[in-house]
Amino acid sequence: MKLVFSGNDFKYEIEGVMKLFIPATLFDISYIDESFSFGDTVGDMAFIRRVQKGERVLLYALCRIGEKYKHSKAFISADTPDTNNECELALCKCLFKCMTYLTGKTPEWGVITGVRPVKRVNLLLRQGKSEGEIREYMRSRYLCSDKKADIALKTAYTQEKILKTLDKNSFGLYVSIPFCPTRCAYCSFVSQSIEGCTKMIPEYVRQLCEEIEYTAGLCNRAGIYPDSVYFGGGTPTTLSASQLEAVMGRIEKCFDMSRVREYTVEAGRPDTITREKLETIKRMGAGRVSINPQTLNDKVLKAIGRRHTVGQFFESFELAKAVGFDVINTDIIAGLPEDDIQSFQNTVDTLIDKEADNITVHTLSIKRAARLNHEGTQTALHNPAAQMVEYATKRLLDNGYSPYYLYRQKNMADNQENIGWAKPDKESLYNIYIMEEVQTIIAVGAGGSTKLVDLDGGRLERVFNYKYPSEYLKGFDEMIRRRGAIEEFYEKK
Ligand code: SF4
Repeated sequence: MKLVFSGNDFKYEIEGVMKLFIPATLFDISYIDESFSFGDTVGDMAFIRRVQKGERVLLYALCRIGEKYKHSKAFISADTPDTNNECELALCKCLFKCMTYLTGKTPEWGVITGVRPVKRVNLLLRQGKSEGEIREYMRSRYLCSDKKADIALKTAYTQEKILKTLDKNSFGLYVSIPFCPTRCAYCSFVSQSIEGCTKMIPEYVRQLCEEIEYTAGLCNRAGIYPDSVYFGGGTPTTLSASQLEAVMGRIEKCFDMSRVREYTVEAGRPDTITREKLETIKRMGAGRVSINPQTLNDKVLKAIGRRHTVGQFFESFELAKAVGFDVINTDIIAGLPEDDIQSFQNTVDTLIDKEADNITVHTLSIKRAARLNHEGTQTALHNPAAQMVEYATKRLLDNGYSPYYLYRQKNMADNQENIGWAKPDKESLYNIYIMEEVQTIIAVGAGGSTKLVDLDGGRLERVFNYKYPSEYLKGFDEMIRRRGAIEEFYEKK
């Protein structure tokens, strides 16, 4: 499909809106001048035009799919504050209306293509807006459905009490273990499967411990302390019990851990979990683990390349309960290939029956890098993810779970979202703070992205580590140099 722009370069947002209707597509982009004539063209096309008309700006979208046409226009005053962004939003809405008409689809989040819809709701709540006003704002400004506005509101309410407990001198410590036993078909993460890099792991652990020690020195000097620790990946339990002990021990030794309120290790894949590892994790201070089945259907597990069984998930889950963690999270995914409504419902119902403290319902996102993408177009186009998410939402609400964080990604099946659900007082602080961008995240390890946040000064800076373990091992001195930005940031506060 062609996207033709005139008088604007809103390619990024416009493509985002088009993908809500036509996923898994590469668009043919061109920019034209006034001499362009839509009537002389052929094929599926969207024409996106911005033109100044005296005191006003005309925003215009004209779309053709097959034999059908639709156009939509809007005007805004040329002296509107933030004109460019307002024009972009108006054009996105024009395009959305045309595509709704031509495809018969009405994506539920409207033109919200960004990652954090709840952030907008939190802002409106802080401004004292009522529920009704927020719903109306989401509807008229973003064409968002009441159903999605409601879930964003519910999430914001759950977050309210937790956001109030945030101390601005605290941070979340993220520890990246970018290894997995095998690569899942839908994964686009930088993680490397262990088969190719077993030899690298001891060196990685050694260097990670050095980075932890160096970073802790910086944080201590800057007067900031961790209030949560999060081991993510990859699959942190790809490490042996003694390697986990070494990394967790170094954290304990170097950081001021006296005010840590939450300590999570994503055990992730049941095929990496042993009693010894779980006991080590618990003994070293973690109270929250994630054990992720993704689905409780062996056929689906096989289709997505997870080399574990449903039986192994149950064993790991019971083991984690027996070891005595405070919170066990389980991740599942709506819209997986080979899955169907009934099997997904069974996954949700079983996890509720098992009394998982947190259930995180992801929607499949087919990213470019994922192996699945080669066969993925059909998965993206004919996917019952919306029905699955609706079922999960109803069942979880009915069973006392609340949504506590919510985010969206590009190319999500059926334009849904990812939601973390929790039983009362079992919400994860780390997930809320990171998603709402209200707290500094100090990341260590390959692929780690440190985010420095100063809410009072309105500053947000990022410091990136090398992505891949091999680069990480080679580029240690450069990464240590980049860490200087942490001290500089806090000196300015
Ligand atoms: S466990 Fe997660 S990070 Fe690892 S391959 Fe699977 S989806 Fe990717």
